[in-house]
Amino acid sequence: MADQGGRPNKDKNKISKPEATGENSDNTQNEALEKLNAQWHKVRSRLRAELGEATFNSWFKLLEVAGAQKGRVVLHVPTRFVRSWIEAHYLKRICDHWKSEDASVRRIDIELKPEWVPSDKKPEIREQKAVPPRRAPAPAMPRPTAPEPVDNTGRDDLGAPLDPRFTFDNFIVGKSNELAHAAAHRLAEGDGVAFNPLFLYGGVGLGKTHLMHAIAWEIRRRAPERTVLYLSAEKFMYQFIRALRFKDTVAFKQQFREVDVLMIDDIQFIAGKDSTQEEFFHTFNALTDHNRQVIVSADRSPTDLEGIEERIRSRLGWGLVADIHPTDYELRLGILQAKAETLSRRTDGSLDSARIPQPVLEFLAQRIDSNIRELEGALNRVIAYASFVGRPVTLEMARDVLRDLLRASDRRVTIDEIQRRVAEYFNVKMGDMLSARRARSVARPRQIAMYLSKQLTTRSLPEIGRKFGGRDHTTVIHAVRKIEQLREEDPALDEDVDLLRRMLEN
Ligand code: ADP
Ligand code: MG
Repeated sequence: MADQGGRPNKDKNKISKPEATGENSDNTQNEALEKLNAQWHKVRSRLRAELGEATFNSWFKLLEVAGAQKGRVVLHVPTRFVRSWIEAHYLKRICDHWKSEDASVRRIDIELKPEWVPSDKKPEIREQKAVPPRRAPAPAMPRPTAPEPVDNTGRDDLGAPLDPRFTFDNFIVGKSNELAHAAAHRLAEGDGVAFNPLFLYGGVGLGKTHLMHAIAWEIRRRAPERTVLYLSAEKFMYQFIRALRFKDTVAFKQQFREVDVLMIDDIQFIAGKDSTQEEFFHTFNALTDHNRQVIVSADRSPTDLEGIEERIRSRLGWGLVADIHPTDYELRLGILQAKAETLSRRTDGSLDSARIPQPVLEFLAQRIDSNIRELEGALNRVIAYASFVGRPVTLEMARDVLRDLLRASDRRVTIDEIQRRVAEYFNVKMGDMLSARRARSVARPRQIAMYLSKQLTTRSLPEIGRKFGGRDHTTVIHAVRKIEQLREEDPALDEDVDLLRRMLEN
């Protein structure tokens, strides 16, 4: 049973571990496995960077390498649900990344892990099990008295682990995030409920997850008896669907309603998922009715959350809504400086590659202005490169290593430019992009322009709508979906769109 540190178990796995012969087969095997794990580590990092922490944690945290043979890599997952989700959404991406690590890999198979036992016991804010309720237990919902179910994957894994780097200490405050930071801080410090819920929103990579984790860490430090549960909306959905499947909804509800503070990250993911929304709403109401704190994050404001019921949207806006704006130069520089300092402290300053000259930091702060995740990624890349070649970081090196990123930020496209290009391409008047005309000959190019605006700019749907003669955001959604659908069905249109995209990007 003992599953050595999540490694494949000798006889049980169908797939054999890397083939080996001779007496030193163990060594060879270990080496092969190590190599495989190293590759998996890199693939994971890329997935994490691409998909973001929340998505990554929901789907990839529990994936493990089982073995490989003849170009076929097998990964293990705990449940069928995770398997089919990954297969449907991420398999190709995993495979592509893996191929770029190791060209001999031809396919990736996802298999169910035999007798899965939750593996890592990282710091996890989830203490309701150990801690007796502080107050009288919330409205009696019979706790299941049956012994712990054999399949306890859902139980032990209710929340998501917290990132130890995401603390208030490591959070740099600037104009763009000061409201969100102040609200988060206030909430973590006070014991009363000042505003409920706290709704944090802003574009990707701007620090929403960081702030939520910081709140959790801080509460844990100040008031360890309070139970804090942090998880992504995807994970909430996942738990809920699991509970439905295992007819375990009573326990599910109970677990969520017992906490003092519930944080749900990236709530936009439950858009369109009606039963999950419904369940979330009940949980939300149950908690707020009992004066428990709820914190929610999203990539847009409550009013812009399409696909989420009106009553939920409006309820989400009742507390404090704090948005995080795109960063400014000062904040970016501040973050880089702090990060560079941590790095050189960690290496004692003994590693040349870990010392980053100020002009390089300024250069990065100026040029990488999309979001903080990318900014950190750029810095890491430069440092990794420097330590790899064993030379100190220079401006020139940074420029060179980040060529692709820099090009991407050079070609920031505007909606005006998209409209102009698309009009030109389809030979319609620029004015038609904004007009109310519905003739197919202008409506289609207009939809394509909306679609490209969504793809190539960071503008929100309502903003895009406004740019197209004051249209509603639902019109933009409709256009985006329509073009997505047509791209699948109509190769000629697909090619047009692709061509336009490339033209605009270069
Ligand atoms: P979001 O959840 O909004 O997509 P994250 O919270 O995951 O963004 O932040 C992305 C990365 O940027 C994380 O590594 C985080 O630590 C870092 N980061 C974001 N904001 C700040 C900040 N103000 N100071 C320091 N690091 C930050
Ligand atoms: Mg996040």
